[in-house]
Amino acid sequence: MSTSALPDIFKAYDIRGIFGEQIGGGLAERIGRAFPLVLSELAGKPVQELQIGLGRDMRLSAPELAARYRDGMLATGANVIDAGMVGSEMLYWLVGSRQLDGGLMCTASHNPKAYTGAKLVREGAIALSGDSGIQDVRRLVEEDRAPDGAQPGRLEVLDIYGAFQEAALRFIDADAVRSAQRPLKVVVDGGNGMAGPMVGPLLESLGLELIESYWKPDGEFPGHEPNPLLPENRAFIIEKVRETGADLGIAWDGDADRCFFIDETGAFVDGDFLTALLAESLLSKAEKPGEAILYDVRASRAVADTVERAGGVPYVNRVGHAFFKTRMHKEGSLFGGEVSGHYYFRDFYCADSGTIPALLVLEMLATGGQSMSERLAPYRENYFISGEINSEVADQQAKMDEIAARYSDAEQKQLDGISIDYEDWHFNVRPSNTEPLLRLCLESLVSAGDMERRRDEVLALIRS
Ligand SMILES: [Zn+2]
Repeated sequence: MSTSALPDIFKAYDIRGIFGEQIGGGLAERIGRAFPLVLSELAGKPVQELQIGLGRDMRLSAPELAARYRDGMLATGANVIDAGMVGSEMLYWLVGSRQLDGGLMCTASHNPKAYTGAKLVREGAIALSGDSGIQDVRRLVEEDRAPDGAQPGRLEVLDIYGAFQEAALRFIDADAVRSAQRPLKVVVDGGNGMAGPMVGPLLESLGLELIESYWKPDGEFPGHEPNPLLPENRAFIIEKVRETGADLGIAWDGDADRCFFIDETGAFVDGDFLTALLAESLLSKAEKPGEAILYDVRASRAVADTVERAGGVPYVNRVGHAFFKTRMHKEGSLFGGEVSGHYYFRDFYCADSGTIPALLVLEMLATGGQSMSERLAPYRENYFISGEINSEVADQQAKMDEIAARYSDAEQKQLDGISIDYEDWHFNVRPSNTEPLLRLCLESLVSAGDMERRRDEVLALIRS
């Protein structure tokens, strides 16, 4: 494996590449040796005292690569708790609940079959990122120092399914769901990822009528790619919800840390509106008023409006899970939601979860007496959102400066890219940090037609 391939696999938030071509066993072991050195630095303690969690998803290459990560970590003298095949959030939960110094999840999340990767977290299940940690791992992998003759660390193998599921179930009143007038009919699509084993037993315990699809982990992905954000991967569940007259459809990505919802009419539920619903549910259960809720710069105003109505305090945040988790840890925010389907929970070590949102939505439907589309109607009828639209732009900063000048009479913020706010419409444009792209999210509070007109106007400026 040539060292020139290294820079391409260390992304902003994780390591990702094609198995065999970009990441093989040898490189995995070197990453395994580098990671504890970075954690040791972050935790301010010797490598020999580190406790590091390890998990892997269902990809065909995962058993081999996880073993090499493990061997690398043990060789440095660090101690490893190996949870085996789990969802990413189970690894986060292991790191959070046992106060481990860090964790490594061997996964390529929602990517196609050929990919592999690793999500690296430090104490508190906070992701290493390009700004802090990942580039240090890369530097050490390049140096490839031999372990300094340390005694190998201790290995513990641990089954965490039962304890994790118990912890997740505490977010809802399970008995209230079980005693609903009629069992909810729910289509679930695991994309042959980790949702089946992770969430399945919980859903079964709630007495739902489940229609299981692609529910068994299978790294061949015989059904579809495990990425429900792509419309072609959602076609199946939309059709199935309509065909079976189900109350709800839920689809997860490969490592099941993100879930997406289809209402009973077959319509996709936007992440903005789901953030609003989840925030409302959590605030209604909060012990004290004024809890902080984080949402991202792309989100519909539906989120802030809902949070305020429900007695919480909304705070806008930069996009990206490291930014959410770090701020939630620091400020003790109750909940954070990103429109891309990442939902973070304070009482889940501020980690993102694909299990808890599903449980909260099911509780809401079982106890609230309204269908999913009825719950969403006030949002869909008043908030008209464009969704995220990418444009190729050579000079991102120059274009954002142009936008700032053009809309100089608006309230402007530069928390993440540029946000332009008018009374009845607003938008955010931010650069991709890996590609020459600008991403636009726009909302009108007037009408769908108004949203389209303004969207096209801003797009014309971006693409001019
Ligand atoms: Zn994922």
